[in-house]
Amino acid sequence: MAKRDYYEVLGVNRDADGDAIKKAYRRLAMKFHPDRNSDDPEAEEKFKEASEAYEVLSDDQKRGAYDRFGHAGVDQNAGGGQGGFEGSFGDIFGDVFGDIFGGGGRSRGGPQRGADLRYSLQLDLEQAVRGDKIEIRVPILAGCEDCKGTGAKAGTSPTTCPDCKGAGQVRVSQGFFTLQQTCPRCRGQGRMITDPCRSCHGAGRVEKRKTLSVRIPPGVDSEDRIRLSGEGEAGPMGGPAGDLYVQVEVRPHAIFARDGRDLHCEVPISYSDAALGGELEVPTLDGRVKLKIPAGTQTGKMFRLRGKGVVPVRGGGPGDLLCRVAVETPVNLTPRQREILEELRSSMKQGGEKHSPKETSWFKGVKDFFDGLTS
Ligand SMILES: [Zn+2]
Ligand SMILES: [Zn+2]
Repeated sequence: MAKRDYYEVLGVNRDADGDAIKKAYRRLAMKFHPDRNSDDPEAEEKFKEASEAYEVLSDDQKRGAYDRFGHAGVDQNAGGGQGGFEGSFGDIFGDVFGDIFGGGGRSRGGPQRGADLRYSLQLDLEQAVRGDKIEIRVPILAGCEDCKGTGAKAGTSPTTCPDCKGAGQVRVSQGFFTLQQTCPRCRGQGRMITDPCRSCHGAGRVEKRKTLSVRIPPGVDSEDRIRLSGEGEAGPMGGPAGDLYVQVEVRPHAIFARDGRDLHCEVPISYSDAALGGELEVPTLDGRVKLKIPAGTQTGKMFRLRGKGVVPVRGGGPGDLLCRVAVETPVNLTPRQREILEELRSSMKQGGEKHSPKETSWFKGVKDFFDGLTS
């Protein structure tokens, strides 16, 4: 499905400022949030779409790339390559709603844990079955080295916010009530940076690419996730890093199809081998093995090679290899071969039902069907 324009999704103009974008997203997210629309896949889809649009448009760098190149500018999957990368929506959700819900679930005014990230990794079947060690390059937000993650220029340090005295919250009187509110001056951080670090513009984090070595345990399958603890985004203000989840996706194989611990493959056999029986060489992941087939083997017959499947990553014995036989009708016959087959045909006709029980009963069924129509 083609992605909708992010501005259209949020219902804002292309020159909308950050506040307008945040307001638009907040309105949509309140409306479509899964907690308020349980079991409504359409609302969930709308919520995801809005979150994705907000994630891009609320980030100046991503928004710039989106304005210039459209979805291709921000969608890492669009460029092909080995894997894709996406941030976590939980993180931005907290940014927008933290102040509405009084910061529930997300601590304000101090270092926060960085977001978990997901990286999708494509593997060949052999790699997934045997395990491997793979290097991946992931874009991450890392703690800024110049300011040690504080966001303040080297030699200076953040100062405590004078309005809230570092609490991140202020009390406001409205009539008889006193309300607790996020401090507008420091936006709830409790501290302020008067002289921001040049490298990270005060964020305390910079975008970097880092190379990680991922150990693929033998037996993984599509949908499995490998967690690299502490390899996610660095936390803002020097907080602990999130985790990186490597999502496995196994590429289709030329010969084998995997179904849990079993492997399936189709083996073409000749017409004469099917009729006379014989010994076939079939492939397994560990090399070729011999498979005896009996005389009179039909197309679609399944042969099970025990223990030639996959040892699953969660333990247990290996599965089986299921070979489905497909009889191949001979082509490009020589005159001599034609002659033999002609001879075979008339000989078979004389034998009738004995040699082709299926064919005979089928024709009988067809005859009964037409007789039933005319009577
Ligand atoms: Zn910095
Ligand atoms: Zn403050």
